[in-house]
Amino acid sequence: MNILNKKQKVGFKDFLNFYTKFRIPWGLYIMASALGIVYAEITFKIANCTIQVNKGELYNKIIISYVLLNLLSVAIVTMKNQSLNYGDYKIILRSRGVIWNKILHMKIKEIDNFSPAGLVSGITNDSEQACIAVSSIFEFVASAYGFGKACWILYSYNSIISKYMITLIPFAIFVFWLVGHLQQYTQRRIYAAINQMTIFFSEHVSAVKYVKAQAMEEIEIQEGFRAIDERYKADILNVFLEVVMTSAYSVFNNLTTIFLCVFGSRLVRNGQMELTGINSSSTYMEKVNLYLSESLTQYQNIRGSQGALTEVNRILKAEEEDPSEGEEYITSKKKDIVFDKVEFGYTNQLVIKNVSFTLPYGKTLAIVGNNGSGKTTLMKLMQGFYEANSGTIKIGENELGKTKLEDIRKQFSYIIQNDCMFSGSVKENIIYGCEREVTDEEIVKAAKRAGAHEFIMSFENGYNTILRESGMNLSGGQRKRLSFARAFLSDKDYFLLDEAGANLDSKTYSEIYESVKEKMRGKTVIFIAHEIEKIMDADYILVLTGGEVEAFGTPDELIKSSKTYRDYVSRLKE
Ligand code: ADP
Repeated sequence: MNILNKKQKVGFKDFLNFYTKFRIPWGLYIMASALGIVYAEITFKIANCTIQVNKGELYNKIIISYVLLNLLSVAIVTMKNQSLNYGDYKIILRSRGVIWNKILHMKIKEIDNFSPAGLVSGITNDSEQACIAVSSIFEFVASAYGFGKACWILYSYNSIISKYMITLIPFAIFVFWLVGHLQQYTQRRIYAAINQMTIFFSEHVSAVKYVKAQAMEEIEIQEGFRAIDERYKADILNVFLEVVMTSAYSVFNNLTTIFLCVFGSRLVRNGQMELTGINSSSTYMEKVNLYLSESLTQYQNIRGSQGALTEVNRILKAEEEDPSEGEEYITSKKKDIVFDKVEFGYTNQLVIKNVSFTLPYGKTLAIVGNNGSGKTTLMKLMQGFYEANSGTIKIGENELGKTKLEDIRKQFSYIIQNDCMFSGSVKENIIYGCEREVTDEEIVKAAKRAGAHEFIMSFENGYNTILRESGMNLSGGQRKRLSFARAFLSDKDYFLLDEAGANLDSKTYSEIYESVKEKMRGKTVIFIAHEIEKIMDADYILVLTGGEVEAFGTPDELIKSSKTYRDYVSRLKE
């Protein structure tokens, strides 16, 4: 299974671009860098003390300095780490905000390209890597300073031995390059595996009852192991990388020791270096190696976080919509819905073909057609969830694509097939999206209209009953009634019902539907339904076949013009 997403390439520019989207706490990182440099200075002073002690200069002054410098180094490094940690958590906080904001502003056609659990994983998991690149860059500054200074001290101590050491630099560069590449690949794989796991488990945990009903437990256990195994493989690759890095570093370390022994002893024999020179050079060389290894780790971290943030950068690259952009919504008496030669496809394939009709305001419209004929898509198009490929859609005098989307969407009450409930009280769920202040009486009235008041009152806490995630402690029918209550509370010009009778017994649905008609008297109601009584009762009927309008007109007109409609009616009569 290839879990790396190759759909859209994200590169280094996108990675950098991510860091322009939120405020980086520069002060904290600059302070951490400065403390890192101070820390490096202290370690050099400690190294000097060590060299003096090695030479046998065991004076009190040196011993006391050694102790104090060590204590100071602990204090400095603690402060440095605290600044870095604080900065890191600020970045994680802000980057999560940026991703969440982005998801809510993405065009729906872009959201369709992601799995919901993958988006969740972007906010919860991947975002944790956002701070690594920044903190590593600032740590890198201190490490690079330490490295430069250590090289300089070694050079000042003995320029000949340091020249021998310089010949090892190409090897160090090779190690940097190799480890950076591997780290980016590995982290990308690890985070792709985390995404896959999140998608798999959230999908299957929420469907666990269905898995049991289908007796699929054993097969799903294997599938779950496969998802876990992907993560395991990525982790093992990471372990392998650690081995490569540690081995390369230890080879480098050993080479420096060998170089020091071979060339240092030659210099001592030639009288070009003092007797304790090898020991002193070794102490300085240790610092060179230490800062080189730190720089390597930080470089590795930067490349790694670029890999880990691949999916986040894909999310941030997605096209956005600005619902507040466009012309003001015109509220006039003319509120017809007009489709004019509208064509639309989610992909290259058209699912709405050359659709034209005018629905006069204040009428009811039944959209009829087989599964997949495009009924729901029409409802989504009129609310501007997707842009038509061609043609125009007008809500009253307002053309979609020109008018502010938020204003267009505010005109509609929309009952969808899978009702959306959120964690929170019943009351909070009913008033969700209501822009005005509402009284408890209004809420109860809306619930009564939706046939929900009775079951709400049967709960111990009534309207304050807490719904679990997605309202899972309610039955499908109860969720549907709450959706209706929510819609009744608002005062919209257009009421859309997409198979709203699903989950309701036909008597209840008929009662609620009567309430809709009463509430919407003089306004527009559009519904997708399969109940012939309701279809025949509508003012207009639109018959869709394969995304095309087979017929549009009153029920009487359609008896003559639409075979699909005639079939519906004759089925009723059977
Ligand atoms: P209906 O409501 O008539 O059953 P829809 O409007 O839901 O049909 O779907 C029309 C066609 O568009 C179907 O072929 C369906 O597979 C496709 N479709 C619906 N939603 C999407 C989507 N988000 N992405 C891609 N194709 C989709």
